Amino acid sequence: MKALKLLLLSLFIGASTVVAMAQPTLLPPDAIRRGEPAFVVFLPGHGGQPAAGYTLTIRYADGRESLPYRGFKAPPGLPAAGQRAGGLDTAYAGTSASGAVRSAILFLVSVPTDAVPGDAAMVVFDPDGIAAVGARFAIVDRAFLHEDLRLDTALTSLRIDADPLKTEQAIRYQALLSTVDPAAAFLGGGFVKPVATERITSFFGMRRRYIYADGGIDSSTHSGVDYGCPRGTPVVAAGSGRVAMAEARIVTGNTVVIEHLPGAYTIYMHLDSMAVAAGDMVEAGTRIGAVGMTGLATGPHLHWEFRVMGAACDPEALVGLDKMPTIRTILPAIEGR
Ligand SMILES: [Zn+2]
Repeated sequence: MKALKLLLLSLFIGASTVVAMAQPTLLPPDAIRRGEPAFVVFLPGHGGQPAAGYTLTIRYADGRESLPYRGFKAPPGLPAAGQRAGGLDTAYAGTSASGAVRSAILFLVSVPTDAVPGDAAMVVFDPDGIAAVGARFAIVDRAFLHEDLRLDTALTSLRIDADPLKTEQAIRYQALLSTVDPAAAFLGGGFVKPVATERITSFFGMRRRYIYADGGIDSSTHSGVDYGCPRGTPVVAAGSGRVAMAEARIVTGNTVVIEHLPGAYTIYMHLDSMAVAAGDMVEAGTRIGAVGMTGLATGPHLHWEFRVMGAACDPEALVGLDKMPTIRTILPAIEGR
């Protein structure tokens, strides 16, 4: 009886996945909120080529298109509780699912804070630039708060005074964040919070008004999340990656940039001290420095930011090791189709 059940189960798995696998399959989230990142699962079918050769472009309701996101290989993921490490092979041996899911490719995309809510579409292009598969998804509205920041004379001049070194640093920083290295696929698991605190002093996407010492006003959008914590609080890498920058900057103070994927970076600002150097490899949880108030800061805090293809998105939407699809979590998703 048990053997028959197993046989039926394997036939069912084989049948359902053969259908899903014969053609390239795209599994987008149902919806993404404005200003948030999301993982997208793509199964190239048989004969897939290297993940970084595939790109994904989002088309918004107003006709705007995103820059092309690069694919990366889905990590195997941790075995489920009570499951042997080889459980996946055992369960799917001889079915088309095993190979197809092993070739699963992920994209980490982000929707800008000013995207038009409503219907949107994503298209995956193969390494030859030919559209492989597309899917529709919804962009959901999200409200962002406002805040006023009063700056004293010193902080005002730090923000507005012309300074060739500041300009040079800004140009180099922007160039770094717009770098898309197809070989930079270091993310082997999900993201964790970089500091152990729940105290957020400024949220992602806040519309900010800077009120200068002379009464002048400027506005901007807060591109990260601020955690207020005592000076010296340990700061850890949010995910595995390569340190792309560890540098004392005029405006952002001691700043660490970690490259996780082609074009995807987490950024840590105003650090009191830095424990890593450019080129270092880090894992999620590796200590990279300590909270401080270097640069333009009105108190000790960590400014944590996440950018994909240059666009800032809410880093907290990534936190939770279960947020990143793995071949273990992708399988049930295919079977559920
Ligand atoms: Zn901040």
